[in-house]
Amino acid sequence: MIGGGLAGLSSAVALADAGLQVRLFEKRPHLGGRATSYTLPDGSEVDNCQHVTLGCCTNLADFYRRAGADSKIRFYDRLYFVDRQGRRSTIQASALPPPLHMAPSFLFLGALSLTDKRAIAKALLAIAWAGGSPADTTGISMLEWLRRMKQTTGAIERFWRVVLVSALDEELDRTDAHYGIDVFWKAFLGSRGGYRVGIPLVPLADLYEGCRKAIARRGGDVKLRAGVRDIRICDGRFACAVMEDGSEALADFCVVAVPHEQLLGMAPKELRGDGGPLDGLRQMRTTPITGVHFWFDRQVMTEPFLTLLDHTTQWVFNKTMLTGVESNGGGAASQLREGRRTQYLQLVISASYDLLSRSRQEIIDLCRRELQDVLPTTRDAKIEKATVIKEVHATFSPEPGVDRWRPAQDIGVENLYLAGDWTRTGWPATMEGAVRSGYMAAEAALAGLGRPQKFLQPDLPFEGLSRHWADRAASSRP
Ligand SMILES: Cc1cc2nc3c(=O)[nH]c(=O)nc-3n(C[C@H](O)[C@H](O)[C@H](O)COP(=O)(O)OP(=O)(O)OC[C@H]3O[C@@H](n4cnc5c(N)ncnc54)[C@H](O)[C@@H]3O)c2cc1C
Repeated sequence: MIGGGLAGLSSAVALADAGLQVRLFEKRPHLGGRATSYTLPDGSEVDNCQHVTLGCCTNLADFYRRAGADSKIRFYDRLYFVDRQGRRSTIQASALPPPLHMAPSFLFLGALSLTDKRAIAKALLAIAWAGGSPADTTGISMLEWLRRMKQTTGAIERFWRVVLVSALDEELDRTDAHYGIDVFWKAFLGSRGGYRVGIPLVPLADLYEGCRKAIARRGGDVKLRAGVRDIRICDGRFACAVMEDGSEALADFCVVAVPHEQLLGMAPKELRGDGGPLDGLRQMRTTPITGVHFWFDRQVMTEPFLTLLDHTTQWVFNKTMLTGVESNGGGAASQLREGRRTQYLQLVISASYDLLSRSRQEIIDLCRRELQDVLPTTRDAKIEKATVIKEVHATFSPEPGVDRWRPAQDIGVENLYLAGDWTRTGWPATMEGAVRSGYMAAEAALAGLGRPQKFLQPDLPFEGLSRHWADRAASSRP
């Protein structure tokens, strides 16, 4: 196994559970890849960026169970929105059957006009009526589809954009309509629990502690600071991985679970060159996410998290409340003894193209001003510490037609399989997509050994009218 992100870990744990001895090589000193946490020089432990899961992410939930980390995720049924004037709205499922379960909260959303709501309701019903697959969406952007559905500017800016830029890390005009529609179908329309937001109670790296044990139980091991330089293929078959120190690692088969840009660096020319199975990876673009961390000297927020409308900042997470840790700084214990109530907030800005050229101080100043709009107590509060983490290549861009560049797990080289959120999973770049790819690679490897086994979990079952409409759409497909 090459790569200890969610794709590599989920594949390794599934294979270990199937009785195989797995050796996992990870270049960095810790596991988790893009979904991990670090210790800052002052002892604070921070996630590289807040990560959330949703109720519809069934494979990620299965992976957390296998890794013994499911009790470290807490799910929230209520979502909180705030506009420029600081007005709050919440949405939550009602007792109505899907797809109507969110309708009562939606009707009371203060930030949208009646005209906006009417347009949105029409488009959402069109998605549900078509069982999640409305006609004529192939190759078009989400923005194009919304225009065809006659969405108002308010509906686009204050509803569709708010949900989708965070979910897919891309602007609407660069997002394949299929991905945008799927988010609403799977999370908000198909079932009652798909939209529930799951947030770790612990730093991200702590979620992966059980993986080492699961791998070791079958005699395997995890090697950190073990970068692979090249993958060698001989006679159309995986031969060995050449490590950065020049040594060779042999195995019966290999799952490569590194980001697609890195794979291009380590794959032999016959795979990455013109016409090779990885040739298309060069066409995949990446998009940035910026995380901004603030430690305030007092309590400034009472909600667990907030989604911001009309701001550059998209989400604010109240890390103090979410993790139950007063302050993530080294002085936490002494502050608690002194009875001080500090607060640690983490802000997330997806598709943060406009921030890439801005200095860290400019970003901190911008976010501070925005916090003052929505959390008035921050106006008088002192910032004890602030930090900005720019992930320039956070995820691949789900641009129209991107699926044609995404390779499957099996690229026609015997005993070599691919995993990674960028492989052809049908999902965008998410933890769920990464775990799906890991399970699919494990299934392909076991099938190659003549020991087929299933790891992939079914989606949440559709409920209410959505189930009826999904069944009808499935039976009318050719
Ligand atoms: C800032 C940010 C916020 C995000 N927020 C969310 C969110 O809220 N919800 C969500 O579902 N998803 C989110 N994502 C996406 C999610 O993190 C990724 O989709 C997922 O973690 C990808 O997992 P992966 O295993 O495919 O890749 P990676 O996590 O990139 O793992 C690849 C691993 O391979 C290792 N590697 C690379 N080269 C080598 C080599 N030569 N030898 C050995 N090892 C190597 C890397 O060090 C890394 O550990 C976010 C991503 C970012 C960056």
